[in-house]
Amino acid sequence: MNELTLQAFEHFVGRFGTEVDTRLREARTAEDVEAIRVEYLGRANGKLTDYQKQIPTFSGEERKLAGQQFNAVKKLIEGRLAETLTELSRVTRLSVPDVDLTMPSRSQFRGAEHPVTVVIEEIVEIFREIGFTVATGPEAETEWYNFTALNFPPDHPAMDMHDTMYLAEDVVLRTHTSPVQIRSLQAGPPPIRVVIPGNVYRLDPFDASHAPMFAQIEGLAVDEGISFVDLKATLTHFATRFFGATRTRFRPSYFPFTEPSAEMDVECRLCKGSGCPACKGTGWMEILGSGMVHPNVLDAAGVDSEKYTGWAFGMGPARIALQRYGIPDIRVLYDSEMRFLGQVAR
Ligand SMILES: [Zn+2]
Repeated sequence: MNELTLQAFEHFVGRFGTEVDTRLREARTAEDVEAIRVEYLGRANGKLTDYQKQIPTFSGEERKLAGQQFNAVKKLIEGRLAETLTELSRVTRLSVPDVDLTMPSRSQFRGAEHPVTVVIEEIVEIFREIGFTVATGPEAETEWYNFTALNFPPDHPAMDMHDTMYLAEDVVLRTHTSPVQIRSLQAGPPPIRVVIPGNVYRLDPFDASHAPMFAQIEGLAVDEGISFVDLKATLTHFATRFFGATRTRFRPSYFPFTEPSAEMDVECRLCKGSGCPACKGTGWMEILGSGMVHPNVLDAAGVDSEKYTGWAFGMGPARIALQRYGIPDIRVLYDSEMRFLGQVAR
């Protein structure tokens, strides 16, 4: 290297400061930083190191100034090298190797309420508005709660092993939510107004219209002076609130735990009563069973049937969901298929 003027020395040495700064901005690894260090500060042929050899060629005050300039730039470069190493180690800790930052992100997954849950909540809300509260009970019941107290005769076919799932000699998976009616009556005294949502179990085949486990919702109102008029008025109010303005009709029916008993139909929502395949051409859709609580049921639960009367109803929210959403196969309700649940969500 030729001898330099102090001005030239200061110019070249000063330039290394900015040069190293620019180079370090492109460094991606500690190896990149080390290569830059060797290139400028390397003991053998470092670009800056070479200029150290020039310092003794200056004399007096100039040598002092050249030495100060050299040390300042060297300190600056060493500082920037150390800073860059720290930054890189922080970034390395946060990033995962081979991440493709250009890949489209996953879309947000949103769940949906099950249609049966939606229907149950709406039914409960309608009855809550008119003074009913929610009651629940165990899914494993004794034969007494599930059958005997509900006025089933001892040889009733429902108690057959072919229809009911027995957990033990006397313990069944409840075949309806009616045992909770007995428990509510026992918890008495009247007035009692409860709605009872819950799962029930039957030895049914799993086909388009049956499932071995399904939801049920029942209601019970017991007080002095309750009559069939209350039953009709309340259930008609319910149908109007749930389905909108609709015609209803009551047909005589039979259940062991109510007398008299009636099934309630609403006008078919698809054909407006003119008859279609969904309503099997009748123009009506059955939505629930109901009746005046049998005096034997009140007595079994310890409620004086001479003093109190009451009515009860029971319906299947799954069946109502099928009708409301136009679902042809009940098994769809058990698939938890998000494409389906998303469609019917509120
Ligand atoms: Zn119809």
